[in-house]
Amino acid sequence: MIDIANYDNDNIFAKILRKEIPSKKVFENKYVYAFEDINPQAPIHILIIPKKPFCSFIDFSKKADLKFIYEFTKSINLIAEKLEINEGYRLITNIGKYGGQEVPHLHFHLLSGRPLGKMVST
Ligand code: AMP
Repeated sequence: MIDIANYDNDNIFAKILRKEIPSKKVFENKYVYAFEDINPQAPIHILIIPKKPFCSFIDFSKKADLKFIYEFTKSINLIAEKLEINEGYRLITNIGKYGGQEVPHLHFHLLSGRPLGKMVST
């Protein structure tokens, strides 16, 4: 089980941020890095991660400063605009065990490219 209480500097997204392993970059600025999910669940499946060591949304909501939260949030829609996603999209962030989080670095999944159906699988 992953630990989302203590940041692991060797998690796979930390390595992607440090360019130690490759990724397909979609967008980058001072605050965020966005890249294609290796196992896409929709025609468009982008992962958006902060350039700071937050384990999950819990950590982010408690520790990120206002400027960072503002810029991170704005960046998400900038990515959607850059990709010309005009028909809408879904944002998901999985948190901890019940959320199904696999990588302990905060990430938002941006999914689109077709109607995505119901929100939660049964
Ligand atoms: P989650 O279950 O919310 O933690 O999502 C982790 C996501 O990371 C999954 O959708 C994986 O397909 C994706 N993933 C894992 N390793 C890589 C990688 N090296 N490059 C891109 N996406 C990855």
